[in-house]
Amino acid sequence: MSNAPKDTSAVAPATNFIRNIIDADLAAGKHAQRHWSGQPGLGAQQMAGAPDPAKIRTRFPPEPNGYLHFGHAKSICLNFGLARDYAGRCHLRFDDTNPEKEEKEYVDSIIDSVRWLGFSWQDEGENNLYYASDYFDWMVACAEYLIASGNAYVDSHSADEMRANRGTLTQAGTDSPFRERSIEENMNLFKRMQAGEFPDGAHILRAKIDMASPNINLRDPAIYRIRHATHHNTGAKWCVYPMYTFAHPIEDALENITHSICTLEFEDQRPFYEWLLERLAEGNLFQRPLPQQIEFSRLNLSYVILSKRKLIQLVEEKHVSGWDDPRMPTLVGARRRGYTPEGFQLFADRIGVSKSDSLIDYVLFEDCMREVLNEAAERRIAVLDPLRLIVDNYPEGQSEDCFAPNHPLKPELGKRAMPFGRELWIEREDFMEVPSKGYRRLFPGNTARLRHGFVVKCTGCDKDANGNVIAVHCEYLADSKSGTPGSDNYKVKGNLHWVSVAHGYAAEVRLYDRLFAHPAPGSYREGDRIDVERDFLDDLNTGSVQVISAWLEPSLRQARAEDRFQFERHGYFVADRFDSKDGAPVFNRTVTLKDSWTKSGN
Ligand code: ATP
Ligand code: MG
Repeated sequence: MSNAPKDTSAVAPATNFIRNIIDADLAAGKHAQRHWSGQPGLGAQQMAGAPDPAKIRTRFPPEPNGYLHFGHAKSICLNFGLARDYAGRCHLRFDDTNPEKEEKEYVDSIIDSVRWLGFSWQDEGENNLYYASDYFDWMVACAEYLIASGNAYVDSHSADEMRANRGTLTQAGTDSPFRERSIEENMNLFKRMQAGEFPDGAHILRAKIDMASPNINLRDPAIYRIRHATHHNTGAKWCVYPMYTFAHPIEDALENITHSICTLEFEDQRPFYEWLLERLAEGNLFQRPLPQQIEFSRLNLSYVILSKRKLIQLVEEKHVSGWDDPRMPTLVGARRRGYTPEGFQLFADRIGVSKSDSLIDYVLFEDCMREVLNEAAERRIAVLDPLRLIVDNYPEGQSEDCFAPNHPLKPELGKRAMPFGRELWIEREDFMEVPSKGYRRLFPGNTARLRHGFVVKCTGCDKDANGNVIAVHCEYLADSKSGTPGSDNYKVKGNLHWVSVAHGYAAEVRLYDRLFAHPAPGSYREGDRIDVERDFLDDLNTGSVQVISAWLEPSLRQARAEDRFQFERHGYFVADRFDSKDGAPVFNRTVTLKDSWTKSGN
């Protein structure tokens, strides 16, 4: 890591295939004629509005059925970042068309996390926060248009029968006997489905495309099903609900989305996305140009699990303290851990977007956080594994201030006072009674500098009955105080971190490490076979958190929740946003100063 100051916000994101598409669209004026009524709606409503002030529209469409994770952050930075860079808008849309599953708790948390990452869906008079469940009337209108135009039919087969008729990758499907129902009969049945006349599963509305299509997704996909369920937004109003693949393109079109960016697993759905919107545009339900679906590869990160199912398991089985456990790859966890929004931005820019699946090294993620924190975090001193150092020639009861710069790269941030006294805490590893080769810190007869303080000469140590060192003795050199004339004359190699026993204070510090000890939790290589599955819980890192009581320099007492610091030599720490009290912050280690995993061969 370079120590040179770096303004990470000024690093322009590298271009990528999505930006190339947008550049070409803008150059061709593809979207210039669109109109926008200021609200989602069908084509006629939009056409009656003013020209769309947004050059492009993107969206981030989470399903409110869980907490956002690092993968979502990639999608958020991408979609909101494109809108920002191209004078566009990015909508936050809750894709809540599935009844029963969604919860308000998730909606609130998602809103918080997107804001925390630094993005807004409110620009210049627009408030682009939407709920797909507000669109059910329009979705039904779209479905009825498909029926009226001969593009959809009600199938009364059971789910099993439909599955049997679907065919396989190599074998065409078979037409349902209900496929040739008249438009009138289809319309009548769909109305009665909506009226609640049938139980779940009795009928289903299907698009009428091609049962022999090589793309299975085009073999008359289901678009509306009967589901007698209460929806958190629309209550008992509906007993039919749209399938996701039908709802999503319509949501995009209703919101004037120009570039609908999703992950690669939807690539096979793109022909249906296009088929559906083409039919609806033919019927003038939507204006052209229609939204374009573009796929990119999802984020996979070594040592990290992003599967919703497995994350739920971690929480429910209490392998972590909750969704916001600082070891969780959720954004609420990341925030508590001390990771920064700027670090996520930098990471998203560094990894870029592509269409090929890859596994990103966790070190890259941590390095982005280090880079941002190195720049942003003030320095402080904390002794994590304390050993008492007694300065025998310093008068008892006396103290004086030493001064330490708050940030080595930013002198404008000034200095802080660190009280010095007769008894200090130093790190246990900074003393060796019998030094190993090359050891430069304290051992009897050696001199070393107390950082930002005095040079001391070690005179010996005290031990308990078991031979454990319980205190180290030294004498200080009164004319060696850092920053005073002549102090540079002392050429000592060792540097010690210290906190005054009388002035420092003990605080809870949590040393977090990776939650998993294996780069691909739950899978491993066996000869030529890769990704052999086993229980991912077996790969939990047993040392992923250590709670200690550390000695902190007095100025840290004033730290407020979420203040970030570099504890010199130990890493970056944040005052926990929930457990810190006024005057008694609790610190979480965000990341160490250097990666210790790569070289240790873990
Ligand atoms: P589910 O399995 O419940 O659908 P999901 O992870 O797809 O889970 P969504 O709420 O549907 O969750 O995701 C919202 C958006 O985030 C989607 O557009 C999706 O493409 C994107 N997204 C989800 N996971 C990742 C990932 N690992 N990398 C990049 N984008 C992701
Ligand atoms: Mg999804």
